[in-house]
Amino acid sequence: MGHDVGIEGVQGRIVDIQSRIIALQTQQAGTATKSTSTTSATSGSQFASYLSDAVAQNTGATGATNKTYKLNDKGIPTDLAAYGNGKIPATALGKVGDTNHKLWAPAAESLTTMIADAKRDGVTIGITDSYRSYDEQVDLARRKGLYSQGGLAAKPGTSEHGWGMATDLDLNSKAQAWVRKHGDEYGFVENVPREPWHWAYKPKSA
Ligand SMILES: [Zn+2]
Repeated sequence: MGHDVGIEGVQGRIVDIQSRIIALQTQQAGTATKSTSTTSATSGSQFASYLSDAVAQNTGATGATNKTYKLNDKGIPTDLAAYGNGKIPATALGKVGDTNHKLWAPAAESLTTMIADAKRDGVTIGITDSYRSYDEQVDLARRKGLYSQGGLAAKPGTSEHGWGMATDLDLNSKAQAWVRKHGDEYGFVENVPREPWHWAYKPKSA
């Protein structure tokens, strides 16, 4: 597989959880009057909550890509489509890893996992482009020309980037091969001819 976080990842999360519990206990010690039993009960439930979060996060690609969504005829989640292309609010977008690139939140989560898993395989995946607002699509069309006129830009308001559902990746040949082999495990497909950098996110239909 090569994608399992494995025991090291889980241990790393547990260390993180333990440090958060210590922080909580420190906070609670600061608020004084609570009885010891209340404190430990709270810590216990906090621990359970953090642990279930950690386990959920450690399901990695499988967890993100197994969710299903109501999709329109273009494969765009209907909730997202309602906002309009290039007009997706910040609340529906998520950052990819520690970059400033944003995608529709589930796509961002899945790409973050994919990049981390590739890294464990010794493969570096960079990002050159991600969500594009309507204004950014207009600007790109002006600079690169429309597909319909032999250029490299979609008609503004139609780009998959405007849904936060596509990313342009910076891939060397090893990384290109890796993403071609594993991309679909994370919901990413190469779907534009002559644009091997363009990867669209395809969520599962409900
Ligand atoms: Zn693209």
